[in-house]
Amino acid sequence: MQDFLNTLKINETNSGVSTGSHWFSSSINTSSASPVDGKTIGTVQLASGSDYETIIQEAQKAFAIWRSVPAPKRGDVIRQVGDGFRRYKKELGSLISYETGKSLQEGLGEVQEVIDICDFASGLSRQISGLTMHSERPLHRMYEQYHPLGIVGIITAFNFPAAVWAWNSALAWVCGDVTVWKPSPKAPLTAIACQKITAEIFTLNQVPEAVSSLLCGNNDIGELLSRDTRIPLVSATGSTAMGRKVAVAVAQRLGRSLLELGGNNAIIITPDADLQLALTASVFGAVGTAGQRCTSTRRLIIHSSIYDTFKNQLVKAYHQLKIGNPLEHGIHMGPLIDKAAVEGYLTAIDRCKEEGGAFLVEGGLLEGYGYESGCYVKPCIAEVNPDLPIVREETFAPILYIMKYETIEEAIAIQNGVSQGLSSAIMSTNLRETELFLSSVGSDCGIANVNIGTSGAEIGGAFGGEKDSGGGRESGSDSWKAYMRRQTNTINFGNQLPLAQGIKFDL
Ligand code: NAD
Repeated sequence: MQDFLNTLKINETNSGVSTGSHWFSSSINTSSASPVDGKTIGTVQLASGSDYETIIQEAQKAFAIWRSVPAPKRGDVIRQVGDGFRRYKKELGSLISYETGKSLQEGLGEVQEVIDICDFASGLSRQISGLTMHSERPLHRMYEQYHPLGIVGIITAFNFPAAVWAWNSALAWVCGDVTVWKPSPKAPLTAIACQKITAEIFTLNQVPEAVSSLLCGNNDIGELLSRDTRIPLVSATGSTAMGRKVAVAVAQRLGRSLLELGGNNAIIITPDADLQLALTASVFGAVGTAGQRCTSTRRLIIHSSIYDTFKNQLVKAYHQLKIGNPLEHGIHMGPLIDKAAVEGYLTAIDRCKEEGGAFLVEGGLLEGYGYESGCYVKPCIAEVNPDLPIVREETFAPILYIMKYETIEEAIAIQNGVSQGLSSAIMSTNLRETELFLSSVGSDCGIANVNIGTSGAEIGGAFGGEKDSGGGRESGSDSWKAYMRRQTNTINFGNQLPLAQGIKFDL
């Protein structure tokens, strides 16, 4: 166990405040315990208010230099950062798995996302461009260009403790911005390891100190970032409740926010579905990362003609799931992040029963040998009416709600009938149904898939959701534009000054 911690230079006591090669010491301490075995992995020194101030001032200085480095040169450094993560993939993947409880395979997959977004940003470094348009005035040229914004504040959730930071940072850096990262207090050691890997590459390339800064802390540090007028963009990932607070604080000072919030994702399974595909997609979507992905499958909307067949297959599959130490081979599901998450899961089960849900596979806490951390639970399935209040909420745990539909229009209405709008999927080989699902009267989510589940996204596409899921887009496609300011330029190369809209102003 110690090997990967040693390689990543994670000690018993770790500073959680850094501008790169410089690490600050602080007397505010917290410890990070693993949900896998309940043991303390290490303690972390958190940021104080004065650390916060120092970090922001250093970030301002770094921005003054970094914004003038040509984008392809910035891209080359980010390419090397990706290589750094390639070198430490096994160790960092293990730490992510141990600190958050996700399977080792998922921990490694998360590091791969960091590598992929670095590759993406490196390619983007030679493609950042703006439009040129025809001016209505003779001998005039008009075009748009994108400039760096400044400091990007990044607030992240516990469940993707490295990837979400990288999605934001790689794009921000290539755009010429500098980043200040406030990671989840539930996964600070992964953040410290990421900062160390990045700092090693930045130092080698003489990148100014504080292009990437780390501010481990509690919610109060996130609140400081949200209110700070020196931070033009705050990218916040987490619960909808958190997003509402950040959105108000940032809007109050007319800053920009990029919000990636909770989901309540559904798969529609039609009579023309390939049921084997549908089964794998549903089970992986519901129990992967113990149901703690923003894109986890929470609802299955199944056509009445195949309902009983599919339900029986699902129940059989659930009885074969192996729950245990996520670092071990062949385990399908590890623990929840902490005991508070277990409480939330148990409360949701009780509420579901009170509201009339019928459990086909019972949930509950797992106890005994191997489950000493108190964070292991049983993935469960409940048959429900789609309108139950609990079904319309996001419970960040492996509870799957299944429900029946008769017409595709009804299925889409059920899918859209919740306040969240992150990810959605249809399992069908019927073109009419799949195209309807993808049309303007179909899914209202930011992500809509056909014949793959709701969870897991490639970095090449823009990632994000609508409604209570926040409306932000990050990662691929043209998400980079959120990290830049757009400027429209008009150049007169004639010797007249014709005014726009034909206005005359004779002197
Ligand atoms: P959380 O909302 O409890 O915390 C997320 C982050 O926000 C943490 O760093 C926390 O310290 C910070 N925070 C909390 N209150 C704040 C405030 N008032 N001001 C500023 N910062 C504040 O979420 P969590 O439990 O870590 O993660 C689970 C949630 O995140 C789920 O709802 C999940 O769907 C969502 N999530 C969404 C995405 C996405 O891309 N849409 C990705 C991952 C997780």
